[in-house]
Amino acid sequence: MKGPYTELGVVNTREVFRHAMRGGYAIPAYNFNNLEQLQAIIIGCVESRSPVILQVSKGAREYANQTLLRYMAMGAVKMAREMGSQIPITLHLDHGDSFELCKSCIEFGFSSVMIDGSHLPYEENVKLTTQVVAYAHQYDVSVEGELGRLAGIEEHVVAEKSSYTDPNQVQDFVQRTGVDSLAISIGTSHGAYKFKPKPGETLPPLRFDILHEIEKRLPGFPIVLHGASSVLPKYVAMINEYGGRIEGAMGVPEEQLREAAKSAVCKVNIDTDGRMVVTAIVRKVLMENPKEFDPRKYLGPARKELIEMITHKNATVLGSANRY
Ligand SMILES: [Zn+2]
Repeated sequence: MKGPYTELGVVNTREVFRHAMRGGYAIPAYNFNNLEQLQAIIIGCVESRSPVILQVSKGAREYANQTLLRYMAMGAVKMAREMGSQIPITLHLDHGDSFELCKSCIEFGFSSVMIDGSHLPYEENVKLTTQVVAYAHQYDVSVEGELGRLAGIEEHVVAEKSSYTDPNQVQDFVQRTGVDSLAISIGTSHGAYKFKPKPGETLPPLRFDILHEIEKRLPGFPIVLHGASSVLPKYVAMINEYGGRIEGAMGVPEEQLREAAKSAVCKVNIDTDGRMVVTAIVRKVLMENPKEFDPRKYLGPARKELIEMITHKNATVLGSANRY
């Protein structure tokens, strides 16, 4: 049975992941919770002819209202089609924390959900994920599971210490749960403060050896990378220059993401970078124009910069541009 998502014009991840795997690129998953972000994601991905995963967290759904969000996503698909674009668009729940939340999102038209049981003991993670998969697959909705924990803060998800995904568990987990993709932990983390480099260290210690081991155990299976913003130094500097105080923020260098995108990594989550861009531009415009009080005059430029960041990521980091 086809899911309620077909009414929105969005697609599940099955075909797009297959396409990304064959093409050696990764699909961007951009988080949104407001109008300008959504416009920027659609315009940026239409212009770069990239498939896109529109990603909504539990907190974003509460912020934007579940009904409004459904029609925003539906409108986003229509807007892309009116622009003459046929790029595949997926509506995905980021970090679902319960069966009920996943079920509700599926009823509201999500074509893909993540159930994050990574904080649970292994057997409980298997049980919860299996339950979500059994429900979601009735409606042809894709499910992303997670093994291993990322450090950092992302809305409801807080973890002080990361633990890497154990390659010895991945086959068993995927087989028993029936998930369509797997988020893994290889040293990325959520938020703006991803790494504290030790003296003499230039790159964050991403464990590509673990990624390659997982690829060997799960040939052709889609892998997802969370906590993968680059925390672009340009925007950190701009925020600090215009009255902000974000010190020591550091993300995953773009070269490392590019390498990951060529592997079994089919989906790369990008949230923090979008937040940084908006904050930097809003700060700059308001500082330079203290008399301004029309939100369009600062959110408009923020949207424009966001489009540029998105087309840049698609073309040069993920390799997802010009695929459709
Ligand atoms: Zn995440």
